[in-house]
Amino acid sequence: MSRWRENVREVTPYVPGEQPDEPDMIKLNTNENPYPPAPGVQEVLRSFDADSLRLYPDPAAGELLDALAERYHVKPSQVFVGVGSDDVLAMAFLTFFNSEKPVLFPDITYSFYDVWAELFRIPYHQIPLDEQFRIVPEDYFADNGGIVFPNPNAPTGIDLPLTEVERIVRANPDSVVIVDEAYVDFGAESALPLVRKYENVLVVQTFSKSRSMAGMRIGFCIGSEALISCLNNAKYSFNSYTMNRLTLKLGAASVKDEAYFRTVTEKIAETREWSKRELSRLGFVFGDSRANFIFAAHRTVPAKKIFQALREHHIYVRYFDKPRIDNYLRITIGTREQMQKLFDFLKDYLAGA
Ligand code: PMP
Repeated sequence: MSRWRENVREVTPYVPGEQPDEPDMIKLNTNENPYPPAPGVQEVLRSFDADSLRLYPDPAAGELLDALAERYHVKPSQVFVGVGSDDVLAMAFLTFFNSEKPVLFPDITYSFYDVWAELFRIPYHQIPLDEQFRIVPEDYFADNGGIVFPNPNAPTGIDLPLTEVERIVRANPDSVVIVDEAYVDFGAESALPLVRKYENVLVVQTFSKSRSMAGMRIGFCIGSEALISCLNNAKYSFNSYTMNRLTLKLGAASVKDEAYFRTVTEKIAETREWSKRELSRLGFVFGDSRANFIFAAHRTVPAKKIFQALREHHIYVRYFDKPRIDNYLRITIGTREQMQKLFDFLKDYLAGA
């Protein structure tokens, strides 16, 4: 009998949210943006010269790094880009978490973290959030091989003030601290100011949510030149050309339209605050989300039942069948019209449930 399986790197993969494609659906399950990308992105698409695809792209992604560096007031050598922030985070796990000591992250958090840790054979320890689903900074003062957490956290939407993030960083000068800011643009405080003060902080962000470009796959991180140089060494040992020619141009066009970015993110934050009031009226309870989603439980009707009823009516939200959170729904903030349809359905449904 062949024993090749003994040599295989076996992993239990991450399960992404479903991507149904129904004309009448209301898709509030994977935290996408309901508005289109910046108008400049359309223009680049229209004028893009297919002939240029004969040539490899710039392996250093210069055009996109320059645009990001200018927007975030850092040097291009402090920026690293990847195929979505998943790619950036995976590369950061591989590069910075190389210790025998455990990497620390919350028990309720982005469910890709433990998958990467398993894939790369990184020891890890999941630290319980408190009863209100908050990160407790003191829990991260223990000896460790690195720290990662989203801010705002996912799927809870709850943010940690910058002063608390800084306490975690200050207590951990010998570890790389990764702050995953996938949802920061909807009203939370970014840890970017800490990058100037601490060599070991890496701030990861994405074009998938606030920039309406989940389908394009662009993520980036900002850190000290020392951290970014380590990341580049790992990347060039893996795949030099992660970002294609079209992506680089579309990404740069998006970053240059600051006014559009502000309009869209403010509109979503506004719809979120209105949605909180509507959900309360419908009998839901939830933490004070600063993200583009709300993580809510109903006072009397089980989340799984509501999830299934919504699904049958082609309204998609996310449900996690996991300890501590199996009575919650993660509802992405869509347009006001989409949210109104969700609330209209819930009003009728809950009256009869
Ligand atoms: N971090 C968190 C906390 C997320 O929820 C997501 C979205 N699934 C990501 C990172 C990755 O997003 P993307 O790869 O689209 O940038």
